Amino acid sequence: MALINAPRGTRDILPGESWKWAYIVKTASQTMRDFGFSEIHLPIFEHTELFSRGVGETTDIVEKEMYTFNDRGGRSITLRPEATAGVMRAALENNLCVQGASAKLWNWGPMFRHERPQKGRYRQFYQIDAECLGIAGPRADVEVITLSIELFRRLGLKNLEVVINSVGCEKCRPVYRQKLIDYFSAHKDKLCETCLTRLDRNPLRILDCKQEECGKIADGAPDIFDSLCDECREHFAEVRAGLERLGFTYTLNKRLVRGLDYYTKTAYEILSGDLGAQNAVAGGGRYDNLASAIGGSKVPGVGFACGVDRVMLVMEEQGCSFGKAPSIEVYAAALDDASRGAVQVLTYELRKNNIAAESDTVGKSFKAQMKAAGVCKFACIIGPDELANNVVAVKNLDDGSQEKISREEVVSYLKAKL
Ligand code: ATP
Ligand code: MG
Repeated sequence: MALINAPRGTRDILPGESWKWAYIVKTASQTMRDFGFSEIHLPIFEHTELFSRGVGETTDIVEKEMYTFNDRGGRSITLRPEATAGVMRAALENNLCVQGASAKLWNWGPMFRHERPQKGRYRQFYQIDAECLGIAGPRADVEVITLSIELFRRLGLKNLEVVINSVGCEKCRPVYRQKLIDYFSAHKDKLCETCLTRLDRNPLRILDCKQEECGKIADGAPDIFDSLCDECREHFAEVRAGLERLGFTYTLNKRLVRGLDYYTKTAYEILSGDLGAQNAVAGGGRYDNLASAIGGSKVPGVGFACGVDRVMLVMEEQGCSFGKAPSIEVYAAALDDASRGAVQVLTYELRKNNIAAESDTVGKSFKAQMKAAGVCKFACIIGPDELANNVVAVKNLDDGSQEKISREEVVSYLKAKL
């Protein structure tokens, strides 16, 4: 029988790579803490309705990318394609934002989308996600954008571009939407088939089309900035002023609309110059209509999601540091069979003291044990002499020097040296 492989679009993160992922998550965790965000753990599956209502019926995600199935109780369940809707649901359900309270929440984990797998695009991929709920003013947008920029700064990513736009609100977007329908209707013959279906359902998405012909037409489309209401215009101006005050450079792109329906006002993306086609390492923005779309009271929100798989690709490409790779520091070796028990006891004692220690469990010869010790800084050798004198021979594997240390003092001796 042929070996069963992992499903298409998924992959295993093996030990050679997993410690680098841990570094990214640890850096994120520290950055989140410094910005006052608390971690939240969410279900990986939710009621399908949460996403069809919260992400939007006319988005790529809901139209064609969701992993949806009926569970044994006949309920329609979906593996989460993104985290924002789940975070908002959790905040509403647990009353985190009642009476004007705000909540700053972050989480990380796998997301699922049925897409065509390619470099930087997988069916199970990972996001670090931060959401600031309950604050309507533009300073929250600036804080969220700053947080994502700071995360990438700490990770050492270079050659990034911050792109921002405003997509308006329920007051001004219908007007803009109609302007787009009028404009694109006059260019119907040149639009791709997908965009033709978008024309009535969600014309803003045509702006986002990656097809060359559609792109050319979209470049000439009416400018959203001319349609923004006073409130949206003012909000956007303050976001820009905030970013400038912090010394960040950014690009304006009126064609940045992002796939999700619930976005209002600020939309932004962070692009990497070193990723090719899948060049967005993070995307986010404001979503003041999400809470009501999923049946809650009106709670404004702004957040971002960062694609960890893509961050990883960029960091490898740019030779960024992942800190120190995990390694065994001390190898405990037995000279003869009678010493193996004492070696096992010493190994556990070292480990209890947070020293990464290893010893043989398969019955290797002393020579083979010392070979295995080669990658460590120190070897602790126990044989008949050491047992008799209650000492351990500690060999410094960098310079080959060796000393006898009393058994009671060996842990503190090594702690001081490591
Ligand atoms: P794209 O335009 O690349 O499809 P998106 O707009 O669908 O991205 P978002 O929903 O904004 O992506 O998700 C935020 C981030 O998650 C993206 O910027 C990207 O880094 C990452 N991401 C999204 N989909 C995938 C995927 N299938 N595989 C790997 N990373 C992904
Ligand atoms: Mg996508």
